Amino acid sequence: MKNFINHLLVLIFLIAFNTNGMAQQKPDYVIVIHGGAGDITRQNLTPESEKAHLEKLDEALMAGEKILKDGGKGIDAVIKVIQILEESPLFNAGKGAVFNHDGINELDASIMDGQSLSAGAVTGITDVKSPIELAYRVMIHSNHVMLSGKGASEFAKKEGLEIVKNKYFYTKERWDNLQKAIENEKKNESGIKEKHGTVGCVVLDKYGNLAAGTSTGGMTNKRYGRIGDSPIIGAGTYANNSTCAVSCTGHGEYFIRYVVAHTVSAMMEYKGTSLAEAADYIINKKLVEAGGDGGLIAVDKDGNIAFPFNTSGMYRAYVKAGGERVVGVFKD
Ligand code: ASP
Repeated sequence: MKNFINHLLVLIFLIAFNTNGMAQQKPDYVIVIHGGAGDITRQNLTPESEKAHLEKLDEALMAGEKILKDGGKGIDAVIKVIQILEESPLFNAGKGAVFNHDGINELDASIMDGQSLSAGAVTGITDVKSPIELAYRVMIHSNHVMLSGKGASEFAKKEGLEIVKNKYFYTKERWDNLQKAIENEKKNESGIKEKHGTVGCVVLDKYGNLAAGTSTGGMTNKRYGRIGDSPIIGAGTYANNSTCAVSCTGHGEYFIRYVVAHTVSAMMEYKGTSLAEAADYIINKKLVEAGGDGGLIAVDKDGNIAFPFNTSGMYRAYVKAGGERVVGVFKD
């Protein structure tokens, strides 16, 4: 009997403490954000631009963290973070979005609540200032999950959201990128090396709820009403309280085909795979084999995080309650 109790005590000790002898404590809250993955290297990113991007990510992270620290809901932190990045011309979302082939900004966004599995998504938005807010309204005030173009704009007006002219989203840099892409196309060269710049946020809040959101202008020179992964629940965004919350960035066609965000959750749910392993498998094995560029950010129900990417860089930042706070861009 004594032996049995001794064994039991050892077992409890092993469960409570990891191999470093530190208590494995679930953090009170966790927030991870991204500002896009792509061809971002020390050679093509000036120190000034790097600084500006990292400062904006930090500002967004702090705003999201404040909501979580004060006991706010994860989904509200996701919206706040993404709105700050949508309003910044530095990222490919909201103001600063890339142009389609016709010189128009067409925006996509989606959001998901891991507790209720409710979700909202919008695509082909040309006149709503905050696509992520619109996706959220679709989630809470409509009977649908995904609205597009004209109908989405009509719904935004009914909801009283801020409507802007398409030129609100204009930046010279993105316009020049479109011209370059069109020129390259004429010369039969492949488009431009995308730096992407989509934004996303995943959160675990104090109540154990997970939430995820993504907002983007899509890809430069896109045609024919092209829709990427970002507004597709399961491809670019997914959240489920029993597994994890995920937001993706990269070459959307691949993320759609490989249903990337949901695959991470499914591997955890059906196979018992860890978050780190599942996220790494889909980004660094499946997508690499297929030739799909990009990365993702994720947090699981226990507060573990992952942010694998198979490109040279991914703008990212995260903070765990009472723990580390990191903002970065390059692989090393
Ligand atoms: N995934 C986005 C899309 O394909 C683009 C990006 O993340 O940069 O629309």
